[in-house]
Amino acid sequence: MLASDNAGKLKEINALLHASDFVVVGQASLGVPGADETGDTFIENAILKARNASQYTGRPALADDSGLEVDALDGAPGVHSARFAGSDATDAHNLAKLLSALDGVPREQRGARFQCVMVYLRQADDATPLVCQGTWEGSIVEQGRGDNGFGYDPVFWVTQENQTAAELDSDLKNRLSHRGQALRAMIAHLAQICW
Ligand code: IMP
Repeated sequence: MLASDNAGKLKEINALLHASDFVVVGQASLGVPGADETGDTFIENAILKARNASQYTGRPALADDSGLEVDALDGAPGVHSARFAGSDATDAHNLAKLLSALDGVPREQRGARFQCVMVYLRQADDATPLVCQGTWEGSIVEQGRGDNGFGYDPVFWVTQENQTAAELDSDLKNRLSHRGQALRAMIAHLAQICW
């Protein structure tokens, strides 16, 4: 089970799992309420989410906590990426706030990266969670472009592809992204403990 209600993440993770023997279902389909993300770090929040889901279902849980770190904003929005423009913020609100915070910042100072920490708990009180991480370097453009993906993808510039993350097709995004990196490492770990 994936300890998330984010449809964009679930789609990406199941696409990445396609070639493996694993399938994940979203926690909402199992009646799990969202966890309070009270941690100060990606890893704390990923463990909180996975533990909450495992407690509710009695099953193993996979969770990721991810976000965007922007150099010119001293690493913000970071762990607050989903709620940057407020607790009920939509992706559009968060994007607008980010672009406004970077108004006038020159291109060479708009460096940023996506971070993803992925955690797998065998059960809620698992004292040795599996933890994997991925980082995707890029920068923030001045105006959003592209319709694929979710969240900050329209403003995240992927230098080697000369496109924003929202202009990449989903397979290419999954090959490059922070979540793809973390999940591939997790699949390798899981394959070792499951077989
Ligand atoms: P989480 O569900 O608390 O981990 O929130 C992660 C937030 O970071 C998302 O709601 C997005 O705003 C942002 N984010 C994480 N990964 C991505 C991505 O791959 N593309 C765009 N935005 C992302």
